[in-house]
Amino acid sequence: MIYKDFKDKKLSALGFGAMRLPVVEGREAEVNRELTRQMVTKAMDSGINYYDTAWGYHEGNSELVMNEALAAYPRESYYLADKFPGYDLANMSKAQEIFHEQMKKCGTDYFDFYLFHNVCEMNIDEYLNPEHGLLEFFLQMKAEGHIRHLGFSCHGRAGTLRRFLEAYGEHMEFCQIQLNWFDWSFQNAKESVDILKEYDLPIWVMEPVRGGRLLNLDEKYTVRLNEMRPDRSLADWAFRFLLGIDSVTVVLSGMSDMEQLTENIDIFCDETKLSAEENNTLIEIGEEMGKTGTLPCTACRYCTSHCPQGLDIPDLISMYNQVLFKKGEADFISTFAAKSLDEDKQPSACLHCHSCEPLCPQQIKISDAMQGFEDAINAFFAQ
Ligand code: SF4
Ligand code: SF4
Repeated sequence: MIYKDFKDKKLSALGFGAMRLPVVEGREAEVNRELTRQMVTKAMDSGINYYDTAWGYHEGNSELVMNEALAAYPRESYYLADKFPGYDLANMSKAQEIFHEQMKKCGTDYFDFYLFHNVCEMNIDEYLNPEHGLLEFFLQMKAEGHIRHLGFSCHGRAGTLRRFLEAYGEHMEFCQIQLNWFDWSFQNAKESVDILKEYDLPIWVMEPVRGGRLLNLDEKYTVRLNEMRPDRSLADWAFRFLLGIDSVTVVLSGMSDMEQLTENIDIFCDETKLSAEENNTLIEIGEEMGKTGTLPCTACRYCTSHCPQGLDIPDLISMYNQVLFKKGEADFISTFAAKSLDEDKQPSACLHCHSCEPLCPQQIKISDAMQGFEDAINAFFAQ
């Protein structure tokens, strides 16, 4: 396992993300506890010492399941990260209550790492609003030993990242951002990396394979990469790109099954770096892909709880992206997949109420996307 230095700690460069744990029959809230326990055992045996959960993951059950899975190990043998759910503005006045509940759910009286979760354009005013006293409270928790290291995750644009750092930067010890070879240009992640360098903050990476999107490339791109290194998987390309960035310390991967975990561990046991040519090829491919106009959904599912129709928004967007990828040309696989859903779960069931949109860290105009997908489906069947 590759380890990175952080202050007095050696952190495994691969972090165990608990936001996409295996679930029972597709039910988000029902985590497969036994499989998760086996995966945590495998991770611990393989040297992974960083475990990342959050209040909202798996509809509140990720913290509980990770507590169960890690209970077999001495508390000091792993590092636990949790986050304050300020992406929901209703929580801003409840920091104390939520923090104590989180310690209870996680069966611990301290978090090694604690983050302001998902700082973005929609919540930064409230995160910085002194009336909520958030920073003061978390600094107090740190002084009392309940937080060892304080940081934040940011889905916002570079200006928002900078604004947060200007206000709270002197107290931040690390920052978690969405970073991968596609977003390097597509969402200008490079700029965020540069800003964090200015503040001398190490980077924790989320969405290293963009919710699986970078594991499923167009054939022409896969062929291009295979010509350079036929023995390298797409996951290997994605992780090795990140390991080549000096300030990247922990790369979080949302662990969904044993096969994925095992592949990730193998990758992080090999320190081979990408050559400059390989690195540039990835960035070039990312720039090419970005021009196809797909929606940057990461399947984080923050939006779904606010949809009165119970639409599986990320799933529908993922299907719609197949259409967008082909520049609007009919895509029968996604069209049939959408049409096979119950009528009240199809994009046409969208009420265009916009309730979901403030929750989206990627600022996707979800209502427009539902309309666009509906139009594409109708056009397909009108042919
Ligand atoms: S705009 Fe559509 S997808 Fe979004 S919450 Fe309303 S009904 Fe659901
Ligand atoms: S639409 Fe936005 S909030 Fe919903 S899953 Fe995708 S990225 Fe997340």
